[in-house]
Amino acid sequence: MSWEDACRLDEVDPIAAKREEFHLPESTIYLDGNSLGPLPNKAKQRVAQVIEEEWGEDLISSWNKHHWIDLPERVGEKIAPLVGAAPGQLTCCDSISVNLFKLLTAALSMRPGRRVVLSQQDNFPTDLYIGQGLQSLVGEARCELKTVAADQLEAALDDSVAVLLLTEVNFRDGRKHDIARLTAQAHAHDILVIWDLAHSAGAFPVELDKAGVDFAVGCGYKYLNGGPGAPAFVYVASRHQDSLSQPLSGWMGHQAPFDFNENYQAADGVTQFQTGTPGIISMSALDAALNVFADVDLDQLAKKSAALSELFIQCLSEPQADAQLELVSPASAKERGSHLAYVHPQAFAISQALIAEGVIVDFRAPDIIRFGFAPLYIRYRDIWQACRILHDIILSKRYAEARFQAREKVT
Ligand SMILES: *Cc1c(COP(=O)(O)O)cnc(C)c1O
Repeated sequence: MSWEDACRLDEVDPIAAKREEFHLPESTIYLDGNSLGPLPNKAKQRVAQVIEEEWGEDLISSWNKHHWIDLPERVGEKIAPLVGAAPGQLTCCDSISVNLFKLLTAALSMRPGRRVVLSQQDNFPTDLYIGQGLQSLVGEARCELKTVAADQLEAALDDSVAVLLLTEVNFRDGRKHDIARLTAQAHAHDILVIWDLAHSAGAFPVELDKAGVDFAVGCGYKYLNGGPGAPAFVYVASRHQDSLSQPLSGWMGHQAPFDFNENYQAADGVTQFQTGTPGIISMSALDAALNVFADVDLDQLAKKSAALSELFIQCLSEPQADAQLELVSPASAKERGSHLAYVHPQAFAISQALIAEGVIVDFRAPDIIRFGFAPLYIRYRDIWQACRILHDIILSKRYAEARFQAREKVT
């Protein structure tokens, strides 16, 4: 593949124009949208407007005048089509961690005779930590977090399991589970499923309703580009909404918060998953960021995501360098999400050298470099160029310089 070929792919890319809706720093190839999405122009304008006009001028009247009070619901409804959910099943609030605590507790109490929460050993740590926290809160007699390797999951589904807690796309190697299949297998044992869509929503279509999923959570700041610490989302299938209750019963999840009653009475529907006052500035940024998806065909998004990673694999395998980098993501695009993971003993130093040359990637301990291919704004020519820079760093062994060894707090 030549530079000209890569540029030609950009010319015929049906979603190429989406890139113009983002602020992307000059001379930077941003392959880290799977960790923190870049700034959409609309989000920048919206935050300025919320601060200057809504907060600055209209003050507290903005809860009604600018509909701040309905923002969690509106944002939830904007995310719904991205994850294959009919209206009335999503709301935006808190972080994935906090939402998982609510969902896990609620789901566990829907299966009173069972206590096992089954998850995967290399699930994202916060998912496991929340399970561990719940276990120590309610005691092992009520909750036992059990983790198995990915290839042991199916065998571990039996009638002792209350809840199956999984992430669709593994944060390290990008391996993707089959949501429909695992959900059906879990349901055959009357197990409730919670899917974490942190590396799915906004990268490719997800079909929650079609797969009959019970519960899901997802991230606002990765492929949805809502900004650092943007609130997360919760999905609760309609059929469960009347029969469950979540433990963080705060006033924003009350039936009538402004009645200021002494006793909690849960709001109808998924709104009961709200707890405290939403962060309006942050949620407004996410709300505006989601407008970028309004006219995007999700199948085109998925196709481009696969094509970008295929191109990366191909470009890297052309000359010699890839002998040193081992692809640990599945070789088939169908079995992965939107990032690739490569192992190298000097992974940290190589990722630092790449960043120094404007190719932003991330490192995951102990030895993985992740390359994220967010299809809304990454071009084919970026992939070509990133590969050339990577080749050069590896072949020249520039990564061995001392300045690439120092680790900061966030990697
Ligand atoms: C990024 C990520 C999270 C983040 O959780 P927060 O509580 O929102 O910080 C959770 N799960 C997975 C799989 C992730 O990739």
